[in-house]
Parts: sequence; structure tokens; C-alpha cells
Amino acid sequence: MSKVWFSPIGDNSSPDVISQKVLKLYNAAGFEKIFGKNEFVAVKIHFGEKNNTGHIKPQWIKPLLDAVKEKECKPFLTDTNTLYRGERQNSIDHLMQAYAHGFSIENLGVPVIIADGLLSKNHSEVSIDGKRHKSVKIANDILHSHSLMVLSHVTGHILTGMGAAIKNLAMGCAPRSGKQVQHADVKPKVNEEKCRACGLCIKWCPRDAIQIYDGTARIDVEKCYGCGECIATCRYHAIKNSFKNTSVPLQERMAEYALGAVKDKEGKCCFFNFLTHVTKECDCVDKAQDKITGDIGILASYDPVAIDKATVDLLIEKAGKDIIKDLWPENDYRVQIRHAESLGLGSGNYDLVKVK
Ligand code: SF4
Ligand code: SF4
Repeated sequence: MSKVWFSPIGDNSSPDVISQKVLKLYNAAGFEKIFGKNEFVAVKIHFGEKNNTGHIKPQWIKPLLDAVKEKECKPFLTDTNTLYRGERQNSIDHLMQAYAHGFSIENLGVPVIIADGLLSKNHSEVSIDGKRHKSVKIANDILHSHSLMVLSHVTGHILTGMGAAIKNLAMGCAPRSGKQVQHADVKPKVNEEKCRACGLCIKWCPRDAIQIYDGTARIDVEKCYGCGECIATCRYHAIKNSFKNTSVPLQERMAEYALGAVKDKEGKCCFFNFLTHVTKECDCVDKAQDKITGDIGILASYDPVAIDKATVDLLIEKAGKDIIKDLWPENDYRVQIRHAESLGLGSGNYDLVKVK
């Protein structure tokens, strides 16, 4: 049984309160033993798309990073470039976006490195023994780090139901080509009656796969690689995934990518999940979103499966119902947890240790 440390927080807690809770979790879990002198420590985080407000804030993690640096190692904040056309599709825009949200060396004392390089070509194949993949593509600057600390803001997700530690490992450590492979089964379809021909989906499609003619958006299926961005973008819910159950292969591929991200880092990974300002959609959405439930707290574990399972259980307890499943009934988020467990990535059985 894996241990998950949990520190509750109330709504609108100050950055000071949150950062001290994060530090207490780090100490309670004994994460400092992971980091060795002169070792590279990849601190995986999502900097938040432009206009997003739910993401993890830099002030929350400053004392944590200071504590890691006491081990005389070399931590850096990191993420990989996105499939969709936002502010994080190449390393220059991505770095500018990170700085705009306050993730600067001046504020945090550690650099930001986009792990898959300028145009997302900096990656390697990692062999795994999965059901859908025998190898996965992982960004080199994460792969080449000695240890990995994964900071995940928990959200719902339009294609996978939920995103937390497993998804952060899987999509977050993969280059754009690896993200594309994970989305291979997603097939968007336009509902012509709902489409207002506003053109917003065209702006966000990374493949120029959408055009408007005869008064409706039309998708070129040869060009589309299923990133799902148009589904998330349309304000009129005019684009849906046309094949039922595509969330299952997507989530299974995700779990296998997560396995590849931690390969050869046994005993060198740790995870924090932030159950703060939990939103229906992820931090890639370029707008402020309302939270779907009150703030719950922060979790820490060495086990990405256990921490995600505990996260879900706490969400259900807080909301009095399976709030994520209710939001995304067609995308059963439990697939990613079950598949990750079947691969040996971690355990769904956990012991919750409260840290005040
Ligand atoms: S964003 Fe939606 S409404 Fe606008 S063109 Fe695309 S499908 Fe149609
Ligand atoms: S049409 Fe395909 S490639 Fe373009 S945004 Fe939609 S899912 Fe992504």
C-alpha cells in the first residue's frame, strides 16, 4: 500500500499558507532524500495558458524550491510544447508565457527549461512493455534529469475526464509528436446545425484541418490528428468526438506514456497534486474558469497512481458525488488510473496520512 500525505486547505487561502503547507508535505514525506548533490531535478509544472487563472502559482512553490536547492542539486522548472496553437506551442512563446505568469529566475531562483526544445524535436524513444505501445517519446531534458518532481493542478478534462499526476506525466513529458500519438483515436465531427461559422476553431487548429464553406466548419480528416483542441474551443458545442469510447484508448496510451516518463527513475520521483480551484477544463484553456467545488488541499506521494486515486476520493467526499464523472460522463477518468495500475506504475491502494 502506498502512502499519500494530505494537507487540507480552505477556500481563498493565502499564498503564504499554501506554500507552507507544500513545504510541510515535502518534509513529512521525506522527499529530500530523492535529490543528490549536483543532480539535475526536473520540476514538471503547467505554467497556465494565457488568461488562465487556475494554474499553480509561483508563490506557492518558492519555499519548496528553496528546500530542494538545499540539497546542492540543480532544479529547473519544465514543461513541453503543446499541440494546439496557443502561447505554449514553441519554446520562445512558452517561456514568455511562463514569465508572464511569474515563473522567472528572479522570483523563484531556478531557471525554466522547455524540455522538448525550440520546435519540440528534442526527444528520445523509451522502450516500455505496454498494451498499446512498446516505446514512447519522452522529452530529453526530462529524460536526462536524475530525478523528477511533478506538480499537478487537478482539473476535469474534455477528452480524458480528469487530469492530475498521470496525465501530467504522460502528456506533459511528451513532445508534440508523442502527444499526437496519444490522441490518435480522437476523431472530431462538426454538428452543422449548431455551428455558427464563427471561425474560432480554425484559429486554434494546429493542422489547418478546418475550413468554413456552405456556412459551416468542415474538418479534413486526412489532416486532422485528433488533438481535440477544436472540441474544447467551440463555444457552441458544435464539435464532438465522433467515435464513442475514444477516451479509453487515449487514457490507456496516456498511462503507458506516464510509465515511460518515470522509467529508470525508480526512487527518484515525487508528486504533488493541488486540489485548489478545480475547474471543469484544464489549464490549457485560455480563460478564467469558475471552480466546480471548494478548495480541498494538497497531496504528496511517491506513487502517481495512489495520489490520483486519493485525489479522486477526496473530490468525491467533498462534493458528495462523483463530480468529475458527472461533468464528463462519456469520458470515464477511472480508465487512466486502472490502466496505470495494471502496468505497475503504482497502486490504487493507499494510506492517507494527514499533515496539518
Ligand atoms: S468554433 Fe464552433 S461555431 Fe465556430 S466555426 Fe468552429 S465549429 Fe463552428
Ligand atoms: S480538426 Fe483535428 S487537428 Fe484540428 S483542432 Fe480539431 S482535432 Fe485538432
